[in-house]
Amino acid sequence: MVATLDTAREHLRATFGFDDFRGRQAEVVERTLSGRSSLAVMPTGAGKSLTYQLPSTMLEGTCVVISPLIALMHDQLRSARANGIRAATLTSADSDWRETQDAFRAGELDLLYVAPERASQPAFRDFLNSTRLALFAIDEAHCVSEWGHDFRPDYRMLRPLMDAFPQVPRLALTATADRQTRADVLTQLGIPEDGLVLAGFDRPNIRYAIRHRDNPVRQLATLMTERPGPGIVYAQTRKKVEDLAEKLAASTGRKVLPYHAGLDPETRAANQAAFVVSEDMVIVATVAFGMGIDKPDVRFVAHVGVPKSIEAYYQETGRAGRDGDPSAATMFWGAGDFATARMRLSEVDEERRNAERARLDALAALVETPHCRRAVLLRHFGEDPPETCGNCDNCLDKPGVTDVTELARKLLSAVYRTGQSFGMGHLQKVLTGAEDDRIRQRGHDRLSVYGIVEGEDARLLQPLGRALQARGDLVPTEHGGLALGGSAREIIKGEREVEIVVPPKRQRSRGRRGGDEANPVGDPLFEALRELRRELASEAQVPPYVIFHDSTLREMTAARPSTMSEMGRIGGIGGKKLEAYGERFLMEIARH
Ligand code: ADP
Ligand code: ZN
Repeated sequence: MVATLDTAREHLRATFGFDDFRGRQAEVVERTLSGRSSLAVMPTGAGKSLTYQLPSTMLEGTCVVISPLIALMHDQLRSARANGIRAATLTSADSDWRETQDAFRAGELDLLYVAPERASQPAFRDFLNSTRLALFAIDEAHCVSEWGHDFRPDYRMLRPLMDAFPQVPRLALTATADRQTRADVLTQLGIPEDGLVLAGFDRPNIRYAIRHRDNPVRQLATLMTERPGPGIVYAQTRKKVEDLAEKLAASTGRKVLPYHAGLDPETRAANQAAFVVSEDMVIVATVAFGMGIDKPDVRFVAHVGVPKSIEAYYQETGRAGRDGDPSAATMFWGAGDFATARMRLSEVDEERRNAERARLDALAALVETPHCRRAVLLRHFGEDPPETCGNCDNCLDKPGVTDVTELARKLLSAVYRTGQSFGMGHLQKVLTGAEDDRIRQRGHDRLSVYGIVEGEDARLLQPLGRALQARGDLVPTEHGGLALGGSAREIIKGEREVEIVVPPKRQRSRGRRGGDEANPVGDPLFEALRELRRELASEAQVPPYVIFHDSTLREMTAARPSTMSEMGRIGGIGGKKLEAYGERFLMEIARH
């Protein structure tokens, strides 16, 4: 019998406790159940794993999952088992190979996770022949393509393996694949073109905000108050990571730990593990952090300094809010970030330089836009989003745009006339006619640009300087000064207009605590349920989110179920979890 979507929904309820499919999950599940192969491109948090985990419980035989990282496999394994799915991994970190192999041969596994290196060995093909297969699921499928950003040669060996089992459907999954990579993945894995299921890139629960960095510790501390849950802060160097972690811990009293390649492996692993199980810890990290971490309840991702590219920004911010709850992605940028990045352009090979410059320009446009950030991001990925989203800083608090062409001409002339070797501080003094020894000594008080800026305009010099640096019209010199670059000469000659964004005068005042938090923090029942979840999690040695997500606890708090069957109707409680935890949570609710 071919299972229908209705039967699939019953299984969805019974196993995962979810009422319905999300986004394009239903399509993928339907294709898989009917034996067709697909490539599912869905953003992080869309629920890709469910699209093979659910069919694996319905189809006869085992679903073999190829996954590139042991940490990811173990994460998936835990979650699958918590829902009563019969899953196992075969990795170098496992000691239960015998049991796993026996269970597989006996047809007692729904899911078997392996790395591509193992899957591509000839012995593995023989092993697969020892039982019935239901599905090949290929996670992080962009790794098969040289166009993707994580090419893994072993993924290329998967095609011959799968071709040896022509009856078994294939399901490739990835969150990041541009047009070229998608086409390549389809070919490399032998999936028909009509098998592409492409969900949008939008992550509606993430609130994007980009601010100028004036006092990172204070700015981050405020963000931490607004978002009391777990958070990731990305900083650019090891030293900055260490420094910020220390200062944030001191100024907020929260648990804040560093993560970077310079820490010894034990400390690094311990800090990561502490973060994964925590409900309120902040990790300050270099971008090395995040690969292979599947923590669903990250409430904010902050960038101190600009990321490498829009792609990197999307991927890094995408680690926030996988559970669908409100989350923040906040970037604190400085003119120096762009200045440094543009200076490095000269070290790049000539063939790559234009592409790299375009990458920076795209980032500068995102940082500087007065329009919807989400729209800029989504357009970058080829989508056609609405003009406004209502959930980014610019949509919530529209910034002004000012024509500063004249002021820009004055500033750039001052750069030129002072010999292209001074920084913004000195230039501002010259332009506003400050009385200053250094100015007099150098004769800058006799220049035609001395004292030609006054009043309101003087206030705009700083943001203008930042904007020109972000755009590359002002470039840094080796000794910390600024020189003309990009379109500076056209601006001076009056051939080009300059507009800049002026931030709204006062930042929207939010509630003192958790203004954007979905959780009823402080509600005694909710807090008691969280406490119980913590206990159960530490007994079972799993992160709390493996027991129940916050959304499940919220629903319990609001609905106050008093019987097992009422409890079973709460979202996120499938049969296995109801049996394992239902009674304990009912008792806790009854006590309040
Ligand atoms: P991805 O792998 O696409 O990043 P995951 O598979 O980790 O996403 O799923 C993200 C979260 O969404 C998980 O916590 C999962 O339990 C939840 N989820 C998945 N499908 C549904 C659904 N149909 N209804 C409610 N929650 C879902
Ligand atoms: Zn917006």
